[in-house]
Amino acid sequence: MDLYEYQARQLLAEQGIDTPKGIFAQNSHEVAEAADEIGYPCVVKAQVRIGHRGQAGGVKLAKTQDEAILSSEQILPMTIRGHKVNGVLVAEAKNVLHEYYVSISLDRSSRDFDVLATANGGTEVEEIAKEHPESVKRLHISALQDFDMDAARSMAESIGFYHADVDQAADVLLKMWKCFKDNDATLVEINPLAKIGDSDDESSKKLCALDAKISLDDNAAFRHDGWKRFADTTHTDMFEEHAKEHGLHYVHLKGEVGVIGNGAGLVMSSLDAVSGAGEEQGTGVKPANFLDIGGGASAEVMSTSLSIVLSDPQVESVFVNVYGSITACDQVAQGILEALKKLNISKPIVVRFDGNAAAKGLKILEDAHNPNIHVSATMEEAAQEAARLAKHTKETTK
Ligand code: GDP
Ligand code: MN
Repeated sequence: MDLYEYQARQLLAEQGIDTPKGIFAQNSHEVAEAADEIGYPCVVKAQVRIGHRGQAGGVKLAKTQDEAILSSEQILPMTIRGHKVNGVLVAEAKNVLHEYYVSISLDRSSRDFDVLATANGGTEVEEIAKEHPESVKRLHISALQDFDMDAARSMAESIGFYHADVDQAADVLLKMWKCFKDNDATLVEINPLAKIGDSDDESSKKLCALDAKISLDDNAAFRHDGWKRFADTTHTDMFEEHAKEHGLHYVHLKGEVGVIGNGAGLVMSSLDAVSGAGEEQGTGVKPANFLDIGGGASAEVMSTSLSIVLSDPQVESVFVNVYGSITACDQVAQGILEALKKLNISKPIVVRFDGNAAAKGLKILEDAHNPNIHVSATMEEAAQEAARLAKHTKETTK
């Protein structure tokens, strides 16, 4: 899960990393209040899970309340490279003397952690790194060892924190590492890590995180109360929330055919098959969702999956595509029947089984003699049938 900047700053602040005061706001009234509280000048920053907001016009300086409101009116309706802006962060504007870049990330290939740092931070960091790769310093932290003050100091020295003292930079690096570990992150990036203050007053100068990007490892959510405090209340999809509560991998789409399968690859190709069938039949019928029941799914998982998919009123038919491996098709068949018993299902369910216990599963379905259950021999046939039935149900129940 990628955090918004305002949430990432919160995690850095919890470790004692200096970050300017900021308030999250979602409309011009909230922006006006926030800006008065922060004081002027302030920066109004798009909260969106993508970088390079500055270059896209998503970061603006405001010297008065009117300017802050005007900036937010420009930023709030923006979509930055496909990401809808979720709100703005109104933050204290700082006098920037220099911009560094520092990040800690999980390196899956070497099974350790990468610390990257350069004295040429800021919005052009990628371009400068390409032209001057030698200016970017990299250090590995072994998963079995720790990153200590000595390592952090030598890192800070090697990248030349010439505007700040090395001790302060090493302190920030160590706190970033603690933030990374404590939160089960896969990325903690600060760009810019800015040297701020008054250029004539040495004692006013310090390092401060003006922007932060943090990604958390979804597999560790259970250790952090499901990261409820970062739940995105503005863009939540009811069905996706419900599926998440049951630990299911579900993505809500816009079509009419519910799709349930085991394994992401199989579900993806089932979506393609449904779209293809809708196109071929000239109806434009499309998949309503992606739902992967995963490996070793029980009858209960299947039954829950069906109830979630069918709770979407857009769904006119369901395509269940299971290639039995650890997941046995007879279990899936039991789950379908359980769901049919529990829910008052009037929509057709097209089933295609193959692999482990496929024959047994089909026999269970056959013996149930339920007119809403349709069986197809191949994935293509099943997709065609599900698309056809979706169109039919829609027309007959209108
Ligand atoms: P990004 O473009 O998404 O990486 O957004 P940033 O938060 O990094 O902002 C882009 C740039 O705006 C930074 O590199 C800074 O140069 C500038 N910026 C952001 N906050 C401040 C601030 O408080 N004071 C000043 N002077 N510049 C800022
Ligand atoms: Mn940035």
